[in-house]
Amino acid sequence: MQLTDIGVLKSIISKYGFTFSKSLGQNFLINPTVCPKMAQNSGADKSTGVIEIGPGVGVLTRELAAVCKKVVCIELDSRLIQILDETLADLDNVKVINADALKTDFAALIEEHFPGDDVVVCANLPYYITTPVIMYLLESQLKISSLTLMLQKEAATRICARPGSRDAGAVSLAVRYWGEPKVLFNVPRGSFMPAPNVDSAVIRIDIHPSPVVTSCSRDSFFKIVKAAFSMRRKTILNCISEHLRIPKATVSQLLEKSGIPSNARAEQLSLKDFESIALHFESAGF
Ligand code: SAM
Repeated sequence: MQLTDIGVLKSIISKYGFTFSKSLGQNFLINPTVCPKMAQNSGADKSTGVIEIGPGVGVLTRELAAVCKKVVCIELDSRLIQILDETLADLDNVKVINADALKTDFAALIEEHFPGDDVVVCANLPYYITTPVIMYLLESQLKISSLTLMLQKEAATRICARPGSRDAGAVSLAVRYWGEPKVLFNVPRGSFMPAPNVDSAVIRIDIHPSPVVTSCSRDSFFKIVKAAFSMRRKTILNCISEHLRIPKATVSQLLEKSGIPSNARAEQLSLKDFESIALHFESAGF
């Protein structure tokens, strides 16, 4: 079944009276080259389990099923479940779950469906929950080795920006705490039905096998990152002082101890710089 064929897609959705929901981020892939490329880049092979979020009508699911041991997909829209029953009927290594990815216990899912297997995530994410889904998956500290994700290009650039570069934001640091992100390839807006107003990109985040930030607590690290990026273009001194309500003189002293100039801006700092700041604030009781 060639689900990227517009005729096939239109006929299946009209058979079930399906209409696209903008609020659920429903832009389905119709470019035949994208899903095989995503599946090949996902790191999955015949011994790997794959979790897919938002299968839609199953276009990526079919490609994943061809390269991996088993795919478990989570789809929120119950209208798509009967369509998936038909489009995936010939595959015996796919399980569809009708649920909200943001309320799914992924650790339990992995335990139940992939005991002892290597697991990766691969998905064309609904745009309205891109960052929450990524952070939810990372913070759940799952036994997974990578996430291969289609996102809006702008979100991909922000997430993959190197700390210390102009595009870096709190999310770039947050993602790098857990893994190493990189942009794999761009996907033009015409690759989807309906076509969104923006282009997309596929990224891959390779999860660190062991933590790279070790000298301070996770809470301290994220507290400092959040504070440092709380006001764009302001110095780290002002951001931390105002956001965490700590007197400027104290912040200045602790920054000096951390080896960071008070007039630095958050987007100029590396992961290790943030770790050093977080460690010194934590040690001072903040
Ligand atoms: N994978 C398909 C493709 O590439 O053509 C569809 C991708 S579409 C961008 C996003 C999919 O995520 C839709 O099927 C949508 O219904 C589903 N979705 C939206 N919110 C969700 C949520 N919270 N949990 C699970 N699936 C969700």
